[in-house]
Amino acid sequence: MERFSGDYYVYPGATDRALRRYRAFLQPPGRRPLYPQDAECSCRGCSFDDVRHARDVLGDVLRQLPPRPRAQLEGQVRALDVRYVERTLPDPFAADRQWRSDLWWRRRIADRREAG
Ligand SMILES: [Zn+2]
Repeated sequence: MERFSGDYYVYPGATDRALRRYRAFLQPPGRRPLYPQDAECSCRGCSFDDVRHARDVLGDVLRQLPPRPRAQLEGQVRALDVRYVERTLPDPFAADRQWRSDLWWRRRIADRREAG
């Protein structure tokens, strides 16, 4: 699927990388909130610095997969989603300040790096 995807951000190995990135973001033990951060560069390598990009890729992959592998991946992603919701904080102003705030995983408080 990755090989034939017309999506620039979905390429061979991207799903594995996205899963590992999502898992790594949620790795820190404890209950302290975690804050997604913008990637410094939008190329398809650096974009994974932003965990929300990893979740975008997983969403895109899930949409394109045939039913059986989709169900399998979906199980893993849902488990991580539960932890993501637990460890991040809702952003009530997401519509004004988050890019693509239609996606629920982007309606969370982010750590904005000030430019300049
Ligand atoms: Zn880059």
